Amino acid sequence: MSNTTPTLGTGVSPRPFKAAPAAHAGLNGPVVLEAHGLTKRFTEGRLDVTVLQGVDLRVHTGETLAIVGASGSGKSTLLHLLGGLDAPTSGTVRLKGEAMSSLSAERQGQLRNQHLGFIYQFHHLLPEFSALDNVAMPLRIRRMPYEQCQHEAAKVLAAVGLKERLHHRPAELSGGERQRVAIARALVTRPACVLADEPTGNLDRTTADGVFELMMQLARDQGTAFVMVTHDESLAVRCSRVVRLVLGHLT
Ligand code: ADP
Ligand code: MG
Repeated sequence: MSNTTPTLGTGVSPRPFKAAPAAHAGLNGPVVLEAHGLTKRFTEGRLDVTVLQGVDLRVHTGETLAIVGASGSGKSTLLHLLGGLDAPTSGTVRLKGEAMSSLSAERQGQLRNQHLGFIYQFHHLLPEFSALDNVAMPLRIRRMPYEQCQHEAAKVLAAVGLKERLHHRPAELSGGERQRVAIARALVTRPACVLADEPTGNLDRTTADGVFELMMQLARDQGTAFVMVTHDESLAVRCSRVVRLVLGHLT
């Protein structure tokens, strides 16, 4: 670790990279992502596990939703289905009103790239690339011109408090900084909804608090909905809504 400046949670105050739109209103806002009657059964080889048994969920513009549940309760499975990364055994997921399973794989990919951002417990940054290039990647995939990609990526990195870290590679950043790069990468396309799977699970308490607060702030400032899987109850209660996954059902 080559940096000496404080990590988030000890004084960095990131600013939004875009003026706050007025259009987000928590549960009163429009529905961005909707699950209806989702079930998931894994039957591979000797396995036969039904993880989700009819899950209904609506995610509204700008809300922050925590999904809590015991380890193995199916939180990651649910997030994968919501993100269209895996198909449900039955039920539907609608992203911006479009039923994912009725679309071609290509169209699903386009919708995902356009409207969703993903954050994982482990940052999944590309080790050989700088923070700037990692964050620019989703825009490159969209075939945005190179200079514009870099410009947009730099703006979002500044918004998460990493203006001074643009050319650092992941290995040259602290854990909290890496996760902030991952947040910047998830937000650079200005998605309607970010799906985060234990985004602070790998961080110490103070850093986790800072990263969490940053996500809350970005949700407020940009109207981005955040769906966050966590087993940290103290973080969950700071979200606008908490749902619990128990025995395959949301309560
Ligand atoms: P959580 O994220 O809440 O810890 P997961 O969604 O990862 O839980 O897993 C829920 C259950 O589904 C676990 O019992 C797990 O073993 C099972 N599971 C997850 N993915 C698969 C898979 N690809 N094949 C078989 N079983 C799976
Ligand atoms: Mg999980």
